[in-house]
Amino acid sequence: MALTKKELQELSFSQSVSHYFDKAAPFTNCPEGLLEQIKVCNSIYRVNFPVKWGKEVRVIEAYRVQHSHHRMPTKGGIRYSMHVDQDEVMALAALMTYKCAIVDVPFGGAKGGIKISPRNTPEEVLESITRRYTYELVKKNMIGPGLDVPAPDYGTGEREMGWIVDTYAALNPQEVDSYACVTGKPVHLNGIKGRTEATGRGVVYALNEICSYKDDMKKLGLNPGLEGKTVIVQGLGNVGYHTARIIQKYGAKVICIAESDGAIYDPKGLDPDKVLLHRKISGKITDYPGAKNLKKNTDALEMECDILIPAALEKVITGANAAKVKAKIIAEAANGPITPEAEEILLQKGIMIVPDIYANAGGVTVSYFEWLKNLSHVRFGRMQKRFEEETQQNIIKLIEDLSGNKATPTQVKSVIHGAGEIDLVNSGLEDTMISAYRDIREFKRSNKKIPDLRTAAFALSINKIKNAYAALGIFP
Ligand code: NAD
Repeated sequence: MALTKKELQELSFSQSVSHYFDKAAPFTNCPEGLLEQIKVCNSIYRVNFPVKWGKEVRVIEAYRVQHSHHRMPTKGGIRYSMHVDQDEVMALAALMTYKCAIVDVPFGGAKGGIKISPRNTPEEVLESITRRYTYELVKKNMIGPGLDVPAPDYGTGEREMGWIVDTYAALNPQEVDSYACVTGKPVHLNGIKGRTEATGRGVVYALNEICSYKDDMKKLGLNPGLEGKTVIVQGLGNVGYHTARIIQKYGAKVICIAESDGAIYDPKGLDPDKVLLHRKISGKITDYPGAKNLKKNTDALEMECDILIPAALEKVITGANAAKVKAKIIAEAANGPITPEAEEILLQKGIMIVPDIYANAGGVTVSYFEWLKNLSHVRFGRMQKRFEEETQQNIIKLIEDLSGNKATPTQVKSVIHGAGEIDLVNSGLEDTMISAYRDIREFKRSNKKIPDLRTAAFALSINKIKNAYAALGIFP
């Protein structure tokens, strides 16, 4: 039964995810009881621990939620933010389950969170909190290469993942695979090239595929392709910055960037690298040379553009501002940026919503590659790069011998290229994002009653999880 406007407004973040699940359930072939099992969170761990903070002792509140054990290990980032609470971590863990299924990453979903403000926490305190949190997870068997594998999320990055692996390895000195206990590590600590930018790169690969369908673009009043599209990005952190940087390379124009302290607009286009540098030097995003400051940072969401990319936090497009959104496409680079109430308004306006469980799945995809690399103890491309180059060299020589013509050094250089780690990571990521979108689009087209892409993505994902359970012989 459809929810009333008031009921939609009152949904918490985790209830919103369940709402999307319920909306998709009728389009699946999953039995009732199993639907319930897929929807619930399997394990929720909340812990409080002390930390020395200058001359004080402070109590830190932290969570790890494993939403689904249908595949192990479970997987999901760790967030550092003052907004962290159990409901938020549950919602994010559930999204991870559906996200992994959509992109065929063989993990269950999980998420962690610590209620701290990383900006206002000294580095040495952040380090002791991260190490203590890891220790608490080890105590409960909630971290490990085959159990649960965290990654970066809002407010965390390579540095934190480095502290986590170091703590885990120190506590498990006998474990040969300990580096696979966490992903998003620095490359020099057995991380993988391309993981830092993977989520943003995945968003761009997704949009590039979405915008390639002439008919779909025509319905939105857009030309096919990313070339010339105007883009607005909210949040210039890991995901937002890399999305903005990479989408420009496809010929799109980033006309507006919003951060927590303000927003800037330039119809001629903004260079994300220069904006980031300006923010680093001046401490703010506003007053960027040549750009106009917007009155409020939230005004960015309501500006005219082709593609709006919320890449900060959840619930930024709500019933209060959805009617004012003028974008043609919204790509949910962040998790849960649109509330269910807002979604109904946006869909009525004919706006295409690219759902988070697909749009930002590039991060977990490359995390999966990193985990595989750690378990195999060898860098991708190491065994075959030189061999491939020699084979290509031999083919060129054969063509030269047969044709009697000599290839120029530039021609030779353009052909001879053995795939290194970054080439393989990016090509695996691109293939994943393209295939997943084709599956979602096809699934939606195969059932005309499916109202939108999110519902199609959820239904497809539930079917895939159901298949995993079916393979276990769980059905009566
Ligand atoms: P981040 O901490 O690197 O960056 C977030 C940025 O958003 C920060 O610069 C922050 O100042 C800014 N911000 C905060 N509130 C804002 C506001 N009201 N308006 C504008 N900007 C604001 O975090 P991230 O890793 O880029 O994550 C962003 C989102 O993407 C989150 O929803 C996260 O769950 C999701 N996500 C991240 C990854 C990943 O690999 N890091 C993967 C999938 C999804």
